Amino acid sequence: MAWFKKSRKPLEGPADKSSKIPEGLWVKCPGCAEVIYNKDLATNLQVCPKCGHHFRLSSVERVRMLFDDGVYEEHDADLASTDPLQFTDTKPYSARLKAGRAATGMKDALVLATGRTEGRRAVGCAREDGFIGGSMGVVVGEKITRGIERAIAERLPVIIVSCSGGARMMEGALSLMQMAKISAALARLDRARLPYLSVLTDPTTGGVTASFAMLGDLNIAEPRALIGFAGPRVIEQTIRQKLPEGFQRSEFLLEHGFVDLVVDRRELKAAIARALGFMLPAAAPRAESVETSAPAATPSEFETTA
Ligand SMILES: [Zn+2]
Repeated sequence: MAWFKKSRKPLEGPADKSSKIPEGLWVKCPGCAEVIYNKDLATNLQVCPKCGHHFRLSSVERVRMLFDDGVYEEHDADLASTDPLQFTDTKPYSARLKAGRAATGMKDALVLATGRTEGRRAVGCAREDGFIGGSMGVVVGEKITRGIERAIAERLPVIIVSCSGGARMMEGALSLMQMAKISAALARLDRARLPYLSVLTDPTTGGVTASFAMLGDLNIAEPRALIGFAGPRVIEQTIRQKLPEGFQRSEFLLEHGFVDLVVDRRELKAAIARALGFMLPAAAPRAESVETSAPAATPSEFETTA
């Protein structure tokens, strides 16, 4: 009695669950839910063309964005953590380091580079979110410090782009010490009368906010970035009060004097160049114009404009 039993197979659902559209071609914007073509996003510095939502950038994208034509020279790329505490939580720290290296192709969570920002040489640092959450261990601290020391030796400004959390707990007190070390190096930079611009991106929290991210001669934040020390939930539980709307976001911090500027990423490089132009003497003249004697050369520059 075939009609009692289901002899025929039931109708099948969509044969192939996996989408025919190749992975990663389209992105849904968390800001406006618009579906954006990935290439459009890339040409727009990962900013949503519809609502201006800022997607996160990798450290390499960040350094490319910072320097003219995306050209830069990387320094100390080989510094790597030695796992000094032989630390193990849910998995060994050495395994986390390995996974971070595999995911990013980097030895640790920071790119240190020199390049030109609208013609002016600068030292730039950018944190890598994909490497153990961009956390700061001895390598990140050492690289930033070396970057600052290089800036002092070569009389260059420093730009540090911060993202993500604080100290790396797997290196315990050693990573906490980086806060003091970098701050001390920045004090030497200040004594050398060289500017430091801090760029705070989403999210900048913990020990980074508690140290160098807030020490810029100018602290520049990207729009709607989460910037704070402890997370909002911890604060609410501690003070037993509801936090105001937009608390710990760039615009709120600007209003309350914690950051100096909120700048759209698409205008960030120009804003940095303008600030450096204001803080530093005019960019060094090119080699051929040095030979003409200084007193004659400088007034003539003004004469042409007068
Ligand atoms: Zn959007």
